Amino acid sequence: MIMEIIKNYTGGMLKDPISGAYIDNYEPATGQIYSKIPQSSEADVEEAVVAAKKAFDGWSGLTPEERAAWLEKIAAAIEARMDIFVNAESRDNGKPVKLAAKVDIPRAVSNFRFYARATTQYASESHHFPGKVINYTLRQPLGVVGCISPWNLPLYLFSWKIAPALAAGNTVVAKPSEITPYTAFLLSQVCMDIGLPPGVLNIIHGLGNEAGSAIVGHPDVKAISFTGGTRTGQSIARIAAPMFKKMSLELGGKNPNIIFADCNYEKMLQTTIQSSFANQGQICLCGSRIFVERPLYEQFKADFVRKVSQLKTGDPVDDKNQLGAVVSQAHKEKILSYIELAKQEGGTILTGGYPIYPEGRCRDGWFIAPTVIEGLSFDCRTNQEEIFGPVVTIMPFDTEEEVLLYANSVPYGLAAVLWTENLSRAHRMAELIEAGIVWVNCWLLRDLRTPFGGVKQSGVGREGGFEALDFFTEPKNVCIQYG
Ligand code: NDP
Repeated sequence: MIMEIIKNYTGGMLKDPISGAYIDNYEPATGQIYSKIPQSSEADVEEAVVAAKKAFDGWSGLTPEERAAWLEKIAAAIEARMDIFVNAESRDNGKPVKLAAKVDIPRAVSNFRFYARATTQYASESHHFPGKVINYTLRQPLGVVGCISPWNLPLYLFSWKIAPALAAGNTVVAKPSEITPYTAFLLSQVCMDIGLPPGVLNIIHGLGNEAGSAIVGHPDVKAISFTGGTRTGQSIARIAAPMFKKMSLELGGKNPNIIFADCNYEKMLQTTIQSSFANQGQICLCGSRIFVERPLYEQFKADFVRKVSQLKTGDPVDDKNQLGAVVSQAHKEKILSYIELAKQEGGTILTGGYPIYPEGRCRDGWFIAPTVIEGLSFDCRTNQEEIFGPVVTIMPFDTEEEVLLYANSVPYGLAAVLWTENLSRAHRMAELIEAGIVWVNCWLLRDLRTPFGGVKQSGVGREGGFEALDFFTEPKNVCIQYG
């Protein structure tokens, strides 16, 4: 097998890391190394920041329409290579090809398109005392900004940051997760093919605590947009806060899925399979704690467990499989250790709970059967800590007050799902749930104009819509007295 070598993208060119050091990149479905990625250091980040600074005047000097045209070109170029991106994302992450084809890559295209259009519609405010004074707000780009993204939705989340940052007139130094670097590498090739001006976007590969923290700590990087774990968010904040950098931190979650007996049962059941196990449960928005109103509990448990046990897990390229591999050996072990913990805490495994070794090319891959656990208290570790895998717990409840206590008991507050046909209850509960996003009778229905982010330890700041353009610009008030 030919080992593919991923390169950094700096100043419009593909570059080896200055140290010459590379890290292994694994294919989760086979457990085999298939490419090498640069183990970039502070020196590579420095080079990227210099290139981004040099590009800033030219890029920020373009009109919004001109920048929009570049983003449209990126979107079209990804779209033209759809199959290549889809297969690369699946291979790098372990997710089913059909999921990458339906969600990941089309959404990355939409991110660039959406912000191409948004920037041409972005307006600033003015405040007027008639005949006396007018204030108006300039929204100016920040300069060089840093974008750091995780492995679960690699290009989707990478582009969700890069697109608004560029649209607002900033130049970017970005780092994808070292575990899933490949589609970011393909993006650098796209940028070269379309002739994006050198230095506007720079992509540095490497380890979080080396390349990532060098971006965060660089004095010329004015803002950090980060998605990843809460603990990493804390260490980023420790470096960036004393430097007074703007920060948008999208962090972990432990989302409740609250099901009332009056719900649309079939729709709820179908969607709950998705919200529990899509992407092997490795979506920050998955509902990992399922609370079911007691009159419905036994029926739900029987139907849900039967359906989950019928899900097929295996080779991500085989469309018959609904679940692929989890992202790494270490992550697989972490998930299995939580299943052990659940048993120690008195939980009963209703289905799953074990690793899978498919026959054929995937026998050494990292697969876990979708797992449903019951019998745990709402405040045990299994129900409080983020597992981020194909594992959910189910639990009955009797009243709204009780389920709100359960739902809000965790340190996180990213998303929640609510199933009820009672309109008043839906509004009442949506108001009281501690989360940045509440889906009622649906899940993962995304309108890119809406604010996206979490409360409590799920993060600070919002992405999406004009919120992201606000984040990536600095407001300056200009006050003019006349009359
Ligand atoms: P990590 O926090 O481990 O890593 C995220 C990114 O940060 C990676 O690129 C990582 O690089 C980098 N990084 C790690 N350490 C540092 C550091 N000290 N300084 C700067 N950068 C660093 O998260 P995961 O990749 O494991 O992703 C899973 C987590 O992401 C889960 O907790 C999940 O809930 C959360 N998430 C949140 C979302 C949201 O919108 N709120 C959406 C999706 C995921 P490297 O990979 O090389 O370590």
